[in-house]
Amino acid sequence: VFQLSVPLNFLGSVYRELRQSLLDMETLFNLQKVNVTIKEQPDAKPLSLTRGGEIKFQNVTFGYHPESPILRDLSLTIPAGKKVAIVGPSGCGKSTLLRLLFRSYDVQKGTISIDNQDIRSVTLDSLRRAIGVVPQDTPLFNDTVEHNIRYGNLSASPEQVVEAAKRAHIHDKIISWRDGYQTKVGERGLMISGGEKQRLAVSRLILKNPPLLFFDEATSALDTHTEQALMENINAILKGLGKEGEGEGEEKKKTSLFVAHRLRTIYDADLIIVLKEGRVVEQGTHRELMESNGVYAQLWRAQEMLMTEKGGEVKGEEEV
Ligand code: ATP
Repeated sequence: VFQLSVPLNFLGSVYRELRQSLLDMETLFNLQKVNVTIKEQPDAKPLSLTRGGEIKFQNVTFGYHPESPILRDLSLTIPAGKKVAIVGPSGCGKSTLLRLLFRSYDVQKGTISIDNQDIRSVTLDSLRRAIGVVPQDTPLFNDTVEHNIRYGNLSASPEQVVEAAKRAHIHDKIISWRDGYQTKVGERGLMISGGEKQRLAVSRLILKNPPLLFFDEATSALDTHTEQALMENINAILKGLGKEGEGEGEEKKKTSLFVAHRLRTIYDADLIIVLKEGRVVEQGTHRELMESNGVYAQLWRAQEMLMTEKGGEVKGEEEV
């Protein structure tokens, strides 16, 4: 028995590791199209969040094709424990920033550091464990809803899964499905909307509970009402004040980075960074940026006008 159980236990842990890294791979945004050669340095050390997760881009130049850079000599600081939004015209490189932080690609010039550690000098595993992502398009596994949420933390209890789903505003929907948490989703299961997928992603994230949170247009597929509820919940999570959890109030605030199209969802951010043509053109709070009347103010006015034309309500697929 002893001889058998050792390799089995070992295999079990390898399997869990594998599943975890598959999940992380899944969150690499649209990686498949590219040939990636990210290598861990032989002397790489685990990332140590000694300053609470301060992220720095210093003179970063990057292009998917090096001859045509998307980010040019970009420098910015995302302070620890703050909610920071990256905005700017389509194609200016917002999602690329997240991909670089996740080390899906390496920069061509400059450095990206977290708490003063160059992300190329830390182990990939520790880097990716520290980061939780709600990507634009959440991948679902051909498995039950419960398993899909549990991928965020394989040792979570069924109660913790339910709790996470409640906090992500998806519990009521799940129990309305015939098989509840045992409903099969994914390509071969129940087809669910983009908004529901995103809320499953948020449930995963709640279970993973990473110190750094990245949202890549997490709310773009939601109707206005659900979006509002979800943003309130995300804000509560960011404050470390889970609504129903106990003892979470003592948790430190998380550093969070939002890539947003819809400025209404991020106007309360501690810092808004405006990118244009691969450079930072403005930064400040909503109020400061409106006062300075530059690119951000222009984008804001354009979106408000669009909202008014649509009668103030942007319908997502949820409502259809
Ligand atoms: P949006 O607001 O439209 O989502 P964005 O600001 O997030 O855009 P990115 O997705 O970062 O922009 O893309 C920046 C530029 O890089 C775009 O011109 C895009 O076409 C290009 N790009 C993105 N991904 C790849 C890729 N895998 N290979 C080559 N070019 C890419």
